[in-house]
Amino acid sequence: MLENIISQKSLDSIKEIVGRCKNFVVTAHKNPDGDAMGSTLALCHYLRSIGKEANVVLPNAFPAFLSWLPLADEVLVYDTDKERCDNAIAAADTIFCLDFNALSRTGDMAQSMVGSPATRVLIDHHPQPSDEFDVLVSHPEACSTCELVFRVITALSGTVALNFEMAQCIYTGMMTDTGAFAYASTRKDVYLIIAELLDKGIDKDWIYRKVFYNFSVTRMRLWGFAMYDKLKVYNKYNAALITLSHSELMRFYASKGDTEGLVNQPLQVKGVRFSCFLREEQPGKINVSLRSVDDFPCNAVAAEFFNGGGHKNASGGELYGTMEMAVERFKKALQKYKVELTE
Ligand code: 5GP
Ligand code: MN
Repeated sequence: MLENIISQKSLDSIKEIVGRCKNFVVTAHKNPDGDAMGSTLALCHYLRSIGKEANVVLPNAFPAFLSWLPLADEVLVYDTDKERCDNAIAAADTIFCLDFNALSRTGDMAQSMVGSPATRVLIDHHPQPSDEFDVLVSHPEACSTCELVFRVITALSGTVALNFEMAQCIYTGMMTDTGAFAYASTRKDVYLIIAELLDKGIDKDWIYRKVFYNFSVTRMRLWGFAMYDKLKVYNKYNAALITLSHSELMRFYASKGDTEGLVNQPLQVKGVRFSCFLREEQPGKINVSLRSVDDFPCNAVAAEFFNGGGHKNASGGELYGTMEMAVERFKKALQKYKVELTE
């Protein structure tokens, strides 16, 4: 038996909304990852399976290694198909907001959602949700939003409602958000849920290969370059940094998703507790990814130095300026957090 973590009140509200409403949009954060994709697609499958009109609308494109997910080919992408996305949002009675804690995490799409009278239901595992939602299912203790979507679907309709496609989507998000169950996954319930998903016929090894053994040669060479030439370890601070400029990314023909997970790599170096990856996604715009182990709160660094936030051990942000400026910020953060990093 799973421990109940979602309140009965929230489940009752969702049950009432799902029963009453006909038209749903399911959305997630900008730069969708495996959990954003898996959770939105699983919920969309479920809503359609009970006869509802449902569409997944995402702020921007998802990486190619997730394109095999069932229904991924029907996802509407806001930054390339604004009109259809705006129409879907305008037609929705309810918008499910998955895997983010504030509307600003959806970029330009936020305006469209704010302008819609639809009920907004949050299902998420990031700390500190904003007050922009009508119903809140916010559980930082969950390994992924996919775990919460599993709980919502099965609380509403039982495990019989869960089909093979939903199970594939849910497993994918649980797997990617935990680094294939290497972190954020010590709770027994994670494995009880996986057992249910296996019962639905998923092949977890096949999913692993689809996601992690599906790289281009250029991506492998980019990682080699990053490890060989760009990784800096700051032993005095138990910290590490990788930077990739826009021209370096171009040189290796980097495409969306090619640097996903790179920030975790330096944590394998003995003694490193904090890792930062600065990626110049456009000239003058730096995307920041931070990871830490144990109690070091990289989300505090993200909020204070990089206009961002996230989880205690996985967070991010962004910065407008040069790579040199971003590196300076990183060094300032190391100085400020020296005690916490070295204690
Ligand atoms: P990633 O490094 O994979 O892009 O992001 C890791 C985590 O950091 C995400 O799951 C999200 O929680 C958080 N995150 C990334 N970018 C931002 C940002 O710009 N703002 C906030 N608040 N959180 C972010
Ligand atoms: Mn997530």
